[in-house]
Amino acid sequence: MTKPQHHAVVVIGAGIAGATIANELLERGQAVCIIDAASSPATACSNHAHAIAHPHIGKGSPRLLRLTRIAFLLAESRWGATWNQHGIFQPSKKDRIFDQAEVSRRLCELHLDDGIAMALNSNEAEALCGVKHSGVWLPRGASLDLSKAAQELLKPHPNLRCYWDTRITRLEKCNLGWMLFNSENVALVSASKVVIAAAMESKALVGTINVRLPLRPVRGQLSIFSISANDPWIQKLPRIAITGDGYCLPAERLNDGSYRWIVGSSFDEGEDDLQARDSSDEFNRIQAKGLVNYGEGNSDSLKRVGNFIGIRCVAGDRLPIIGALTQRPGIFLATALGSRGALWSALAAKLISAQVLDDDFALLARFGFAADLVAALAPARFFAGALAVAPALGTFASNSKPILPSGPKAK
Ligand SMILES: Cc1cc2nc3c(=O)[nH]c(=O)nc-3n(C[C@H](O)[C@H](O)[C@H](O)COP(=O)(O)OP(=O)(O)OC[C@H]3O[C@@H](n4cnc5c(N)ncnc54)[C@H](O)[C@@H]3O)c2cc1C
Repeated sequence: MTKPQHHAVVVIGAGIAGATIANELLERGQAVCIIDAASSPATACSNHAHAIAHPHIGKGSPRLLRLTRIAFLLAESRWGATWNQHGIFQPSKKDRIFDQAEVSRRLCELHLDDGIAMALNSNEAEALCGVKHSGVWLPRGASLDLSKAAQELLKPHPNLRCYWDTRITRLEKCNLGWMLFNSENVALVSASKVVIAAAMESKALVGTINVRLPLRPVRGQLSIFSISANDPWIQKLPRIAITGDGYCLPAERLNDGSYRWIVGSSFDEGEDDLQARDSSDEFNRIQAKGLVNYGEGNSDSLKRVGNFIGIRCVAGDRLPIIGALTQRPGIFLATALGSRGALWSALAAKLISAQVLDDDFALLARFGFAADLVAALAPARFFAGALAVAPALGTFASNSKPILPSGPKAK
């Protein structure tokens, strides 16, 4: 790449976010160039074969609840034919009284009908899910192999150009739009529009154009446990996925009668090292006991046979950062996907492609996006003076001084 080639749209980052956005643009007839520092798609946090997807139904801002419902429906329409729809049960908190009628009413308010979310008392939960505990059953909840999904989204296409092993370190405004440079300060490509989907590294990239993003890393370790045939744990292993304090997938019986069970995830704020830790597996054993309500279970029976370790990228307010960076025209962001990479990627693909293509935003409204939701995701929410929401659902920021929000921890 000696002479910088010009592209209409360049996507930086081929994780699940960048891959989904690039694919959506291709589907809409655009030529796309995707650039990644690694030699193939989804080698970083998206190298995750067991990502669960369901609408958020617990505590959280009303916007988060509305957004995850829309995002779940978009993810389901994108991956529903291929993902593993095992259903997901969310037990009620042990220290709270479960009022089934009240929970049903809340689900209804969130437009989550029985096909998506059902409040169950403990007898109903035992009959339907095999878990004797009240809670909410999400029959369409599923898990997705993010890595396979990203590879499928980026399979060869006449309008897709991929640059692998190519790290972008700097952006600069130029008369064609934006010039992208590597660490040797060589101009690699120019682009009319640039989508930055580089997870934590998005912070350094937009830093080169004097925009500061409040992103932080959260290390996570998922454990793959083996349980021997005849171990008492086997009676407790779930046939559905469970989410609560952590999550687990349905246990899988192997030919020799033992079981394989995936349980996650540890949550290490501000940390970004990828070494496996015994302490994280131990944490997951404790979560496992809580998820299946088996406090007396022997931890030693859960033998670690594998891990997935990744670095989540989160913003302080737990929402992803998706949208046009309005104070730098031509730059779009899709980062801070936190623990909801499957959902937010599906949503980012629709929102970013509409903004990149300058769509009639009435189209977005059909997916349930309202102006307040677009503003809640917009990068501009972190910058002083980011109050105006344009009629076309775009947002404006007066400068790039960040307001660091102090929100609850990401899950
Ligand atoms: C333990 C754990 C459990 C999780 N569980 C779930 C779950 O159950 N459900 C769910 O939906 N999500 C889950 N997640 C979150 C999910 O994995 C992430 O949200 C998602 O993978 C993030 O995707 P991404 O594309 O934003 O980032 P990444 O996958 O990290 O991709 C970023 C890409 O950008 C590239 N890149 C970075 N910098 C540059 C640069 N300067 N130049 C070129 N390329 C660059 C990288 O090489 C990488 O390929 C979990 C995460 C962890 C760690």
